[in-house]
Amino acid sequence: MSENVLVTRDLTKRYGSATVVDHVNITIQKGDIYGLVGRNGAGKTTIIRMAAAQTVPSGGGVELFGASDIRGLSQARSRIGAMVEIPSFYPYLTARENLEYYRRQRGIAGKHVVEDALEQVNLTDTGKKKFKTFSLGMKQRLGLALALMNRPDLLLLDEPINGLDPEGIVEFRNLLLELNRQYQTTILISSHILSELQSLATCYGFIDKGHLLEQLSAGELAEKCRDCMEIKVDDAPRAAALMEQELGLRDFEVLPGGAIRLYEGLERPQKVTNLLVAQGINLYGMEHRGANLEDYFLNLIGGVHHG
Ligand code: ATP
Repeated sequence: MSENVLVTRDLTKRYGSATVVDHVNITIQKGDIYGLVGRNGAGKTTIIRMAAAQTVPSGGGVELFGASDIRGLSQARSRIGAMVEIPSFYPYLTARENLEYYRRQRGIAGKHVVEDALEQVNLTDTGKKKFKTFSLGMKQRLGLALALMNRPDLLLLDEPINGLDPEGIVEFRNLLLELNRQYQTTILISSHILSELQSLATCYGFIDKGHLLEQLSAGELAEKCRDCMEIKVDDAPRAAALMEQELGLRDFEVLPGGAIRLYEGLERPQKVTNLLVAQGINLYGMEHRGANLEDYFLNLIGGVHHG
């Protein structure tokens, strides 16, 4: 049975008269890599901060590992690791020294946790190198190591990929996949670039102006972005039967309202139109559809008007 790790219920945040997170309901289950996608200022950081108890909600609430009362939540929070921005590391200390400082400050037992965390993010070989000379990718990885020191079951990462070069993105993504695979770590990761989360996220929440517009699985998103031909006819069931019988087409769906979405044979659409017309079916329209992920997101936020 699936286990809810993080659930937000009508989570709301207001600053003065501005509602920056507005009744957001997201559900993240154990093992998910949940991509929170939205433009700058959409409210992603604020949601993550509320989940991590760094910001107090103005309304609604958060349930963590099944707990929503104050005591349960405070226990559950010890199972979270959060990286909301690059933590303030000491520029003249090494990776190891910085983590050791935070280990003591946070009262985490066992020196080995520093070594383990460094190993998890591939920073064991940085030796005497000081933080100030690290590349952005290394800084991000050290930030992740810090979030991993308490061996969290849930990782909250706010735009960790932002500013990384393509190689850094791949490396960071692989790290997260490995954590998820090896330790079943559940991950909430935000980004304003949907494609950065591709091949990483198992589900997505799209957020704009504080509203959650849509929440869907990676499979559902891929399905929605699939290349297809949408054919509008006067008799869709008959047209579908003809396409199957006469042309051997099977990969299509009949939508309510007289449209058919065809996913195969797209290179020769005239075969279909010729058949339908020859059989006396009225063809009202034919359109090649299919969005890449970024188009999908832009359509989604472009198509909604509120506030
Ligand atoms: P970004 O990637 O730019 O951080 P975001 O989606 O994470 O974007 P938030 O940082 O959550 O967005 O900000 C949402 C809105 O809330 C923005 O309009 C921001 O200006 C506003 N905001 C955030 N923190 C505060 C604050 N402490 N006081 C007033 N307004 C705030």
